[in-house]
Amino acid sequence: MPRVIFHGVRGSFPCGGPDYLKYGGNTSCVEIRTNDPEPIILDLGTGLVRLADRLESRENFRASVLLSHPHWDHIQGLPYFKPLHVTGSQIEIFAPPVEISCGESYKVHLGDVFDKAFSPPLFPVSWNQLGGKVAIHELTSSTFSIGGANVTCAPVPHPGINLGFKIIVSGVSIGYVSDHQMPRDDREIDPEVLKLIEGVDLLIHDAQYSQEEFEAKSDWGHCTYDYAVHVAHEAQVKCLVPFHHDPSHSDEAMDQISAHLVQMAKQVGIECRVAMEGMEINL
Ligand SMILES: [Zn+2]
Ligand SMILES: [Zn+2]
Repeated sequence: MPRVIFHGVRGSFPCGGPDYLKYGGNTSCVEIRTNDPEPIILDLGTGLVRLADRLESRENFRASVLLSHPHWDHIQGLPYFKPLHVTGSQIEIFAPPVEISCGESYKVHLGDVFDKAFSPPLFPVSWNQLGGKVAIHELTSSTFSIGGANVTCAPVPHPGINLGFKIIVSGVSIGYVSDHQMPRDDREIDPEVLKLIEGVDLLIHDAQYSQEEFEAKSDWGHCTYDYAVHVAHEAQVKCLVPFHHDPSHSDEAMDQISAHLVQMAKQVGIECRVAMEGMEINL
């Protein structure tokens, strides 16, 4: 049965220090282990480095990556992912389609984004000099298979293109909506998002802001943690994992948020387990 391992649970940028020891400071990276020897990796934030540190072997590493979008907090771990620099590694990245709109003025392919990120003076090794192989599959279909898993993707409101995923493996469904722009009325839910995650066993969902923080950043592409419970309830999911925590939320703040959300979810019959680095869920 699938095992979900959280290697990075922060949004926006990594944070560290004594106030972040419990929930962790790495950005978005979740690993799904199945009966297949190759893991499925959701996003490539700095938690990816933690994932590499826990591999039994870096020889002939193989994995499939579902990339929601190329904001820094979702790709920044890739240059420092050790298997990428080892000959024999092979990583398949399934990413948003064809062209990523960066405002009105220009469009760019994901391969070009990585090519720029992996080049001096930003990084000493060029994209085409990597030891491992990376294949980028720009998604042209909303459903596809990787290993023994069936994957569905759908656009999720956020600045620029951004995908949510549903992964069904061994009869268990996992929804991943890492970055989700909440509408001003905080009740409406994009129909495509709702359809994607309807009835999933586990929903990993953006939970970046308090209501007060959202008021100040209402167009930054995220939602309140209360909205995560609302979405989970409307979609009738079994278990909610609030994720993509704001870097300003210390362990002390997160403990309070967690207690609040567990209680709130319980009232609508949903189990809630707030994401923390190192957390594992066996489904
Ligand atoms: Zn993000
Ligand atoms: Zn983002």
